[in-house]
Amino acid sequence: MSDHGVETRQFGHRARLALSPALALKADDQAHAARAMWNLLHAWWQLMPTEKRTLANADAAIRQGRDLNITRVHRRWGMVNLPKIGRVRFRWTKDLPVGKHADKENRITGARLVKDPLGWHIAFRVQTLEPVPKPHRGPEIGIDVGITVPIALSDGQTYEHDAWLTEREQARLLDLEQRAARRKKHRKPGERTSRRLHHTYDQIAGLRAKAKRRAADWQHKTTTKIADTYGTVVVEALTITNMVKSAKGTVDAPGRNVAQKSGLNRSISAEAWGRTVTMLTYKLARQGGTLAKVPAPNTSRRCSACGFTTPGSRETQALFVCRNPGCGWSGNADHNAARNILHLYRMGHALIPAAGRAVARRAQRVKPATAR
Ligand SMILES: [Zn+2]
Repeated sequence: MSDHGVETRQFGHRARLALSPALALKADDQAHAARAMWNLLHAWWQLMPTEKRTLANADAAIRQGRDLNITRVHRRWGMVNLPKIGRVRFRWTKDLPVGKHADKENRITGARLVKDPLGWHIAFRVQTLEPVPKPHRGPEIGIDVGITVPIALSDGQTYEHDAWLTEREQARLLDLEQRAARRKKHRKPGERTSRRLHHTYDQIAGLRAKAKRRAADWQHKTTTKIADTYGTVVVEALTITNMVKSAKGTVDAPGRNVAQKSGLNRSISAEAWGRTVTMLTYKLARQGGTLAKVPAPNTSRRCSACGFTTPGSRETQALFVCRNPGCGWSGNADHNAARNILHLYRMGHALIPAAGRAVARRAQRVKPATAR
């Protein structure tokens, strides 16, 4: 037991359901009915006077934890009661507080059925009581989620990954997308989407889901390693607008990766930033560490060696060359940004997440700019 007390932690856990084709169809019908019910309730709700509007139990999919009657039947399988579907097996990949492990503080508080291209899943809402971790004594680090390098740290380390799909898979995806576009084009007005086109859509969705899953796996591994190592992690308070801007580049440094950012990669990277930050936030909290955010402007254009933003400094997406005559530092552009991010934090520019305004944090251990 920790001498720092205990705290309640809420988290989600998603497990794949083993539904027979017949039960999967039943689940599809259920979802359809729930959707229809929701629409009905929502229409009714909008007719109500504002002060009477509550929708507490409108989502038919949310169940009380005890109704689910979850049991573990095998090392890899659990069983769960699903309303109107019955008792179903699911993949047991994480120890859940059920049976004799459940009590008032440690329990499943609800669940939701979720369908993605890989099939039906159950998303549990879990609550546990955990010892408050001791403060993490690891060093501070700045992180840039870059374009040429996925994650660059201010200490010079980088975390990279291969393309999410192999060349063969990418070629197959392209082929499927072109096939779908052709079939769609040759469809007569009012004609229903053919079985074959539906099948092609499913195959496309399957490949995209595969890429997303690989991206998430990589992010999990990487963020776990970072949260284990560092006590304070500083990131940019990034907005989608910033991301689009950085992909396009500037007049001086037109983005090389505009093409890469389109289609599949764009849809992944748009979510990826938020997911990386979310993972870091809870993984750091679990270890007694902290995530800090600093304002984004100029972190990629300022030189981290001399601290000046000199016009024309950023040469390419990959290489930063300082145009300040007295400096001339050059290095990896993402690494440069990561160092700036850490420096902003050390100078007291961390944002309060909720209010989103800069607080004057006492600048501690600020070394001369050249020695950052
Ligand atoms: Zn410089």
